[in-house]
Amino acid sequence: SKEQMMEIRKQNCMTMKITYYKKPVFIHQGYMQWLWDVDGKRYLDLFAGVATVSVGHCHPKVTAATQRQLKKLWHTTNIYIHPELHEYCDKLASYLPDPLKVIYLTNSGSEANELAMLMARLHTGNFDIITFRGSYHGGSQQTMGLTAKSSCKFPIATSSGCIHTMCPDVFRGPWGGSYCRDSPVQTIRECSCAQANKHYIEQLEETFATSAPSQIAAFFGEPIQGMGGAVQYPKNYLKEAYKLVRQTGGICIADEVQTGFGRTGSHFWGFQGHDVIPDMVTMAKGIGNGFPVGAVVTTPEIAVSFVKASHFNTFGGNPLACAVASSVLDTIREDSTQQNSLHVGTYLMTQMAKLRDKYEVIGDVRGKGLQIGMEMVKDKGSREPLPPEAMSEILEDVKDTGVLIGKGGVHGQTFRIQPPMCITREDVDFFLAVFNKAIS
Ligand code: PMP
Repeated sequence: SKEQMMEIRKQNCMTMKITYYKKPVFIHQGYMQWLWDVDGKRYLDLFAGVATVSVGHCHPKVTAATQRQLKKLWHTTNIYIHPELHEYCDKLASYLPDPLKVIYLTNSGSEANELAMLMARLHTGNFDIITFRGSYHGGSQQTMGLTAKSSCKFPIATSSGCIHTMCPDVFRGPWGGSYCRDSPVQTIRECSCAQANKHYIEQLEETFATSAPSQIAAFFGEPIQGMGGAVQYPKNYLKEAYKLVRQTGGICIADEVQTGFGRTGSHFWGFQGHDVIPDMVTMAKGIGNGFPVGAVVTTPEIAVSFVKASHFNTFGGNPLACAVASSVLDTIREDSTQQNSLHVGTYLMTQMAKLRDKYEVIGDVRGKGLQIGMEMVKDKGSREPLPPEAMSEILEDVKDTGVLIGKGGVHGQTFRIQPPMCITREDVDFFLAVFNKAIS
């Protein structure tokens, strides 16, 4: 019963700091974009775990591929050569531009980023790693150091050598708080393109000039910040950051844990929307549609550094994970998942922008494809974040009417929409009606 589950949760499950709902949701079944609770109530899932289910809950094609592999072989180590690993690496490599062709599989995004940090340090001989403010790169000790979002890290567990430079947030400004007060909210983007872009890039150059430039091993950047609240960068910002990092001898790493596998709609990888080619790409979440898989992809030149460390991962690249991930790639192609992300995401953004114009509390609507954020404010003039109680009231109300959405942002002030990428325009209309009612 629900009471028994709550009792076990209290006694035997670690209490988490992150809480979402005052009245808990008891989920027990899922199909495509839908979830059902133990009472049979149906929810439209617009958060996909945390942006993880890519092609749909229990997608029939992925389920069938998993079942086939379950009967054949679950586990063997990557010491041995098995067809699933090699077929998958060959397939995944075909989705990446040259020279990004060498792959190592892990079980999560944190593991992938840990390994990327290690390889960057081994390859360059440098130690310092730069990330943007507001970034999230994982929950392991090293990646907590890499993570700049303060609510997601615990200072005494954090590694050294990680420098958090400016925030690329156009809405809140380069230091994450101030913004261009002269510009009306509706035109902030245009304003930032015209003048603030230059300003942002100048500040970026200055930060690089003053932060140990000769010791940079790597720069990590999410093509769109996920946990940071769907934060998009000013035009050419990432490209400029790559240029500055490479001038110092550091390598550039794209954390595609949230943005990869067609989520941004216009491209398969988020970095492609910035006109850059990273030296290393890390991925997880959508790669396995909810099955624990992660990967690091890099160039043959950098991959050589891997043999300098006797790194080993028991489960990374196991046959079951490879079979799942392989069928996810096939499904993305066969179901035109990326195209759907673009099509439905664009529609959702357009409709959300109308709500933003209507309501004082929706400060900003941003994102790409099906990675969308709605930044909530007390009012458009002050842009002060909507307080947590009000955020939670809306979240609860939307949930009670049958839709699950996420939240993020440095002040927890941004609602996040990152659904399974199979949602339809009808689902969007349903959500908009629910959200409109909750806000009003
Ligand atoms: N990078 C990014 C951009 C993420 O959003 C996350 C997870 N939220 C991670 C890394 C860490 O992934 P995992 O939780 O699978 O370790």
